[in-house]
Amino acid sequence: MLSNPYKHKVLNFSGGVGGSKLALGLSKVLSPSQLSVVVNTADDFEHFGLHISPDLDTLMYTLGELNNKELGWGLNCETWNMLDSLGQLGGETWFQLGDRDMATHLLRTQYLREGLMLSEATTRLCKSLGITHEILPMTDYRVRTKVQTKTGILDFQEYFVRHKCKPEITGIHLDGIEHAVPQEHFAKRLMDPDLSALIIAPSNPFVSVDPIIKMPGIRSLMMDSNAPVIAVSPIIGEDAIKGPAAKMMRELNIAVSCGAVAHYYGELLDGFVIDEQDAQSAKQLQNSGLKVLVVPTLMHTIDDRIRLAEEILNFSLTMK
Ligand code: GDP
Ligand code: CA
Repeated sequence: MLSNPYKHKVLNFSGGVGGSKLALGLSKVLSPSQLSVVVNTADDFEHFGLHISPDLDTLMYTLGELNNKELGWGLNCETWNMLDSLGQLGGETWFQLGDRDMATHLLRTQYLREGLMLSEATTRLCKSLGITHEILPMTDYRVRTKVQTKTGILDFQEYFVRHKCKPEITGIHLDGIEHAVPQEHFAKRLMDPDLSALIIAPSNPFVSVDPIIKMPGIRSLMMDSNAPVIAVSPIIGEDAIKGPAAKMMRELNIAVSCGAVAHYYGELLDGFVIDEQDAQSAKQLQNSGLKVLVVPTLMHTIDDRIRLAEEILNFSLTMK
């Protein structure tokens, strides 16, 4: 860890790949007592009887520095023997399960069968991987993203992986959200009077961030917090870096721009971080009452992740 000039206590809201990049940067600047990452679990699904939590896995593998840099997801040094055999036997192979990755799904599923909650299973897995920063599933309840398309409703992983986000969407439904209770430590962190920033990662607003912030009570707790709520735009220029965020926006008749992301989060935000490519949007966002930070937000290298994390932390200090 770098020398730490920050007195910060940060709660970071995250999906998978985009979110984990910033979370890694924050984890290099903030100590485990200063940073908690709350993670979307509405992408979770059951496959071959296993409980798979794609976004939690991405966070664990990234903070554990075990992530596969070539693929951009999954574990490093991965092999695919099980999946090959599965295909030979006529099993479904649309969801890629690596040999090493399987161990996570097997153990998590076993923990859940033994009666542990998802958060407890996550804590155990994180401990075994040597992860010292807190990774919290948003809830121990079951919330599942359903994608409404012109030809019917799809489970999120079917839409995302099996159909490669090709179907045109007409809406997104977060099944079970109205009954979901935020995970205990997440709620506790959110109400901590010493919290100094709530940072929404540049994750997909509709399928990664919404499931967390649309749970009952969360939005108002965020707005009531003494800490500023700061989001980082996942949209740079007129596109997302990766994934379906921009395509979803077009299909939902939302303009594809960083400004539209800020507008979508609405009054929740105190501050918004946009890429230097979008500098021309800053004035209009500021006129709407937002504090705006314009910096390079593309995170290619570890240094990019750390620099962006530091810039956001410094930005939050100006908002006290
Ligand atoms: P998923 O759950 O794995 O789909 O990942 P997330 O929802 O956490 O992140 C997906 C979003 O991250 C996409 O909308 C991307 O545009 C955004 N993203 C990925 N990498 C970067 C980056 O380096 N900078 C910024 N600003 N956004 C990024
Ligand atoms: Ca995800």
